Amino acid sequence: MSRTSGIHKYQRKTRLAVIAVAATAGLAGGAVTVTSAMAGPGAKPAAEASTRTGASHQEDRPAPIAAAPKNDTRRGMVYDGLTPAPKGDKCVGMYKLSEGDLCSHGPDAAPKGVDITKDAAPVVRNASAAAGSGSQVVCDGDGKKGNRVQVLYVHAPGQDRFAQYRASFKKWAADADVIYNESAKETGGSRHIRYVTDSDCTASVTNVEVPASALGDFDATNQAVTAQGHNRPDRKYVMFTDANLLCGIGTLTGDDRPGKDNRNNFGPSYARVDSGCWNGHVAAHELGHNLGAVNDSAPNSSKHGHCTDEWDLMCYSDAPGVEMRNVCQDRNHEERLDCHHDDYFSTAPQPGSYLATHWNTANSLFLIPDAAKGAGTGPAPKASHLTARSAVLTWKAVPSAKSYQIRLNGRDAGRSTSTTLRVTGLRAGTSYRATVSVRDRDGHTSRPGPTVTFRTPASS
Ligand SMILES: [Zn+2]
Repeated sequence: MSRTSGIHKYQRKTRLAVIAVAATAGLAGGAVTVTSAMAGPGAKPAAEASTRTGASHQEDRPAPIAAAPKNDTRRGMVYDGLTPAPKGDKCVGMYKLSEGDLCSHGPDAAPKGVDITKDAAPVVRNASAAAGSGSQVVCDGDGKKGNRVQVLYVHAPGQDRFAQYRASFKKWAADADVIYNESAKETGGSRHIRYVTDSDCTASVTNVEVPASALGDFDATNQAVTAQGHNRPDRKYVMFTDANLLCGIGTLTGDDRPGKDNRNNFGPSYARVDSGCWNGHVAAHELGHNLGAVNDSAPNSSKHGHCTDEWDLMCYSDAPGVEMRNVCQDRNHEERLDCHHDDYFSTAPQPGSYLATHWNTANSLFLIPDAAKGAGTGPAPKASHLTARSAVLTWKAVPSAKSYQIRLNGRDAGRSTSTTLRVTGLRAGTSYRATVSVRDRDGHTSRPGPTVTFRTPASS
């Protein structure tokens, strides 16, 4: 899918000169098709092209969208339920949704070669196979409390494929997480999506049945899941929706202020990915909007929720006249966030730069910052089987751990991949302080956990 998407975008670039009429806000990877498919008879410009120019703040607002374009159902460009935001509204230039202050740039068109009427095939057969197939994500805390991204499977009555797809949803959630963390590594950091997780450290998937009519448009879907309690301020909902209506669509706020009280740090937010586009790439893109990408004030903003410096997961020509520049030339960077890390995601922005002074999605409270690198601590050990010269230390498993580092009196006493270690070479009748640190999959070592003191018996 990502490759198809990339090819699609590549072709679009060669056609930019002939774009005359296009729908307003298309989606990632899909905008290309807008240029070729929307120029036929009956196509109407959906909105005024924005004339905003500068990199100034919120006061430089775009013109309202005059009317939503005609639906193009073949490509998943369905505008039902989307209301163009009026002048003065927080969402002006985009569509306004019923829930909260949420906006949307509109549907993302299916990439070329993707038929939204053909469901993505399951990629993992069953839940028990999930753990061994790259489906694990980072477990943080109890997997439930605090800000979390929650994966929902949303379906109509009589069309429940939860059992068939549950393990695949977990895998796609993990694929999206890889995109975030690999992108963080480009600036020397680490960012994992803080999912609601199951005990095996895979993303938890909640099965949600809604009336069939609620699948007919994005706003109705959001209202239906809200009615079942999925509207928490500490949740962003990635909805794998069992429908062949859209490719992907997500809510965003347009708030570009730096700091913790930015609206992007609060839920509920909604990302909907339909069955023809079920994969980690589209899920990561829509979640990107939920986290606050890409603001209009960003240096390379398209002014419609995306960016113009390819290759980049969030960049594409999403409106007439939005020209793309090939800045990060590696096409694989289509699977990464923020080419040059100057528009919406950087773990290490330069002081005074745009991302140091505006909203930076890498600071989202829905991501795990620099996992285990000072964020977490290790478990408390217990000492047993004490002899004059040895002791056995045991501790509770930490799901994200690849191995454990044990220290005695602050000095390295060994490493274990299990939850026990026998330490030898001790002195009789001596007190020792023991701690355990966690080393995670990314090679980060946590702070030591609680210190436990034990004393070896005197030799006899
Ligand atoms: Zn988008």
